[in-house]
Amino acid sequence: DLIIKNVHKSFGDVEVLKGIDISVPSGSFVSLLGASGCGKSTLLRCIAGLETVSGGGIAVGGEDVTALAPEKRDLSMMFQSYALFPHMSVLENVRFPLRMRGERYGNAKKQRELARQALEQVRMGQYAERMPRQLSGGQQQRVALARAIVGQPRVLLLDEPLSNLDARLREEMQVELIELQRALGLTTVFVTHDQDEAMSMSDQVVLMRDGVVEQSGAPEELYRSPSSAYAADFLGAAN
Ligand code: ATP
Ligand code: MG
Repeated sequence: DLIIKNVHKSFGDVEVLKGIDISVPSGSFVSLLGASGCGKSTLLRCIAGLETVSGGGIAVGGEDVTALAPEKRDLSMMFQSYALFPHMSVLENVRFPLRMRGERYGNAKKQRELARQALEQVRMGQYAERMPRQLSGGQQQRVALARAIVGQPRVLLLDEPLSNLDARLREEMQVELIELQRALGLTTVFVTHDQDEAMSMSDQVVLMRDGVVEQSGAPEELYRSPSSAYAADFLGAAN
């Protein structure tokens, strides 16, 4: 499980996260949903260790990771601008995080094997030797996803990974992402400001508002019993 406990984050004297509590059961898909500026990316960056929290703690699989450097947390994060390295082949792009984390993932041959496996998992195996510019947008997205899962991270953190895609491709990728997440049993935190996306993909939705959790629960639950007018309005529920 990923446990986020009373996490606070301030930039200067502006408090952006005001005591966030979330638990993400192992193997589940949780969406962070909320309006622009409510603190979704900041929270994800705190989980990843790219920001230090101002208060509270984060634990993964019972281990307190609050003070650990990002590379020691064994998590993986994919951003909206997931750019692949243009001068590296698809395979080397996917292998890259393993190279960065060194001997744990074996020698070059072993690393390429793992990268190939990850590419198979996103159905991009036959493109291993291509360069990124020779791929479509959707294919590049799949490669970026392969790069995110290649080290078998304990938690996959996705910050609006689909928001650059056109509507059709986006729907396709939503389905593929869920299938992959299920197949690999990946504990996933998915940031989006699209309520339909959150509601259709998630085991649990966390609605954030201005640095706090407004409401969280299973999609049906939020839809059926929004706890506030804000939640009802945001989720588009009839209330
Ligand atoms: P969006 O949906 O637009 O991506 P978000 O929910 O991800 O929004 P954050 O990026 O987490 O929002 O930002 C939350 C607030 O924190 C914003 O007001 C933002 O200006 C502020 N903020 C984020 N990063 C920093 C920083 N490094 N320094 C100062 N303020 C920051
Ligand atoms: Mg954001």
